[in-house]
Amino acid sequence: MPNTKCQIISVASRKGGVGKTTVTRNLSDQLARMGYRVLVVDTDSQGNLSLSYGCPKCLQSEGTLYHLIWSAANDQSQTDFCIQTHDGVDLIPCNESLAALEMYLVTALDREKLLSHVLEDLRERYDFIFLDCGPSLGLMTINALTASDKVLIVTNLEEDASVGAELLIQSIQKVRKKLNPGLGVEGILINMAVKRSLLGLQILREIEEVYDSVIPIYSARIPRTAEIGKARKVHKSVNAFSPGSKAAESFRIFCNEFLRKGGYTDGR
Ligand code: ADP
Ligand code: MG
Repeated sequence: MPNTKCQIISVASRKGGVGKTTVTRNLSDQLARMGYRVLVVDTDSQGNLSLSYGCPKCLQSEGTLYHLIWSAANDQSQTDFCIQTHDGVDLIPCNESLAALEMYLVTALDREKLLSHVLEDLRERYDFIFLDCGPSLGLMTINALTASDKVLIVTNLEEDASVGAELLIQSIQKVRKKLNPGLGVEGILINMAVKRSLLGLQILREIEEVYDSVIPIYSARIPRTAEIGKARKVHKSVNAFSPGSKAAESFRIFCNEFLRKGGYTDGR
């Protein structure tokens, strides 16, 4: 049976620069192309996902995740802030003001569940909601993991990759214990894969040894390629920027594997 319920998925890693934002952007773009209704939420106060769309509204002081969370904390009715992007994906943007929110929320009741409350009303409108996480286990990442059905782990194959994955798994276990017992793990996606790199192969083996029996590692890999940076520079997904490129193809292949492994295929 295909899973037709909206899935909320955190795209996470406890390391920065591994490609969380790139994967959120390009996976959601591919799903929208296939006809799925997708919302992406920028929960990293650096606002990289928001900036990647190049939308001027993302930089404005009003209409960001900050405001939605603030309204939820103060029991105010929420105004609808989702922005339509040129990928056909909806976006709840953020900017650096989100970082200040953590301080204001120190005394808020249910402070770890505010994003979950915000998303509850949006669930019925989407097939997938992706939460692009920052690398630290701050209040926003805890909110994202608490609001999620599953986590998609992104890693590269650099020396400390397994440490980042390990830290994330510890965080997932903490969140399961205290806040969200049903939190599942979708799988591990290897980004920035380099062919014939000995160090890369060694690190891949380490990751496989530790996780393969517990967490599936996708066989699709996203290669390290200049197209990804070039596409981001002009605010496009790789599929819009260069549909024939290896990067675009790798995201199409990954997307199919993601749908198949998650049991989400419904014949689209
Ligand atoms: P994170 O969200 O984990 O911090 P990003 O997605 O912002 O990471 O990626 C960090 C940088 O690496 C960005 O400049 C991005 O364009 C680049 N990048 C990401 N994936 C790839 C890739 N597969 N090949 C080349 N560059 C990449
Ligand atoms: Mg990011």
